[in-house]
Amino acid sequence: MRNETDLRGKRVLVVGLARTGVATALFCAERGARVTASESRGEKEIGADVARLRAAGCALELGGHRAETYLAQDLIIPSPGVPAEDALLRAAAAAGVTIWSEVELAGRFVEGRVIGITGSNGKTTTTSLIAHLLEGAGVPVILAGNIGTPLIGCVERTNKETIAVVELSSFQLELISAFRPDISVFLNLTPDHLDRHGTLAAYAGAKTRIFENQTERDCAVVNADDAPAAGLAPRRPRVYWFSRKREVEQGAFVRGGEVIFREGGREEILLSVADITLPGAHNLENVLAGALAARLAGARPEAIARGVRGFAGVEHRLEFAGEIGGVRYYNDSKATNVDATLKALEAFAERMVVILGGKDKGSDYRPLRGPLGEKARVVLLIGAAAGKIEEQIAGSAPLERAGTLERAVEMAAEQARSGDVVVLAPACASFDQFENYEHRGRVFKELVSKLAGRAADSGRPQAANAPAGQV
Ligand code: ADP
Repeated sequence: MRNETDLRGKRVLVVGLARTGVATALFCAERGARVTASESRGEKEIGADVARLRAAGCALELGGHRAETYLAQDLIIPSPGVPAEDALLRAAAAAGVTIWSEVELAGRFVEGRVIGITGSNGKTTTTSLIAHLLEGAGVPVILAGNIGTPLIGCVERTNKETIAVVELSSFQLELISAFRPDISVFLNLTPDHLDRHGTLAAYAGAKTRIFENQTERDCAVVNADDAPAAGLAPRRPRVYWFSRKREVEQGAFVRGGEVIFREGGREEILLSVADITLPGAHNLENVLAGALAARLAGARPEAIARGVRGFAGVEHRLEFAGEIGGVRYYNDSKATNVDATLKALEAFAERMVVILGGKDKGSDYRPLRGPLGEKARVVLLIGAAAGKIEEQIAGSAPLERAGTLERAVEMAAEQARSGDVVVLAPACASFDQFENYEHRGRVFKELVSKLAGRAADSGRPQAANAPAGQV
């Protein structure tokens, strides 16, 4: 255990009662804290968790948040969805109340090693890959964090032998204090979440906190090819670089189709680039980072190569959704920012029908102009951001307003030609038309299967293969 904190008798407020908040409140209550949970939704909307929390002895403040409650605490743990600049939180912090993210609290109780992964894009893919590689190497792994299961809910399962592989968002990192990963992974840094962090500097500042408490004995895995990430590399922990473009002195790189690990002048082959099944240069970066982290955690090269060969990727990340009449459909619903969409465009040499749009996050879509101009047969716009995107990319490629995803898939099928790739890589959040990106991705996959069914029924396997403009 790291900095285990005695919660007995402490007044703890948990703000927000989604999955993380509920797990945090229960955790603190079990350890003897006097827990209050505050949530803007009412009892009915929260559902069954209300009874669980009450049974555990938590006081509930539902339907709104009260400043007096915030000020009466020793510790406040806001859920990741609550901005750190929230006025009530700021006032509490100014009054001397400690404010931690859930990972800060969890990190104090976790046993065994921790690998923390952050960056703007590729976190979930790399986190899953590292967990997969370590499992394949026989390590007991706890997969946690932003990827789905809050770390706080996994604490009981950790022990000296386990390695917790934890995906960390900037929101979780901005409220740490002593959190220290044994191995940190910093993938890249591009503008994202500026709607919440305000400036790139604030966003970068939150992310680099991943290095803050690391010591000389710890390792930092950093992308040498990403100038913003490389520029933020720390001094203190040992830095291991990864690069797909050049040979690094210490870390992992590509030479002659092989991924090489180099440390202290010694080299070792970790895997072949041909072992990687995931499309795109960005996935090569994820594999370099993942293989390097797994190697530093003790996995043998054979286990790493085997694991990479067996890793099929993660749902909604350039996920193959079907082939109809020679047209391949990919679900990249998780491409919720411009950079991820650029990576999707770079990942294919084929001509593409690209579905863009959703809820704008304050992004600049102009960087898409070049790649769309080169590759897009047509761009189909959906959702609330359609107008802004159209304005910013007009003239780069043929554009059409589809409005809904349903209509976009129909239009894609009408316009794509055999050999094309249709990709949903929206560069936007999903909340204008969907519950979340997973929902959007599932709807896309259902639409593609329906289309495939219709094509098969009509005996016209070319349903998605008609010449442009023809229905
Ligand atoms: P995150 O958890 O950081 O959002 P994911 O692995 O879920 O990352 O991938 C999110 C999106 O970013 C997907 O659309 C994916 O295709 C794209 N992506 C994945 N890895 C990278 C990378 N290293 N650089 C840029 N984009 C990436």
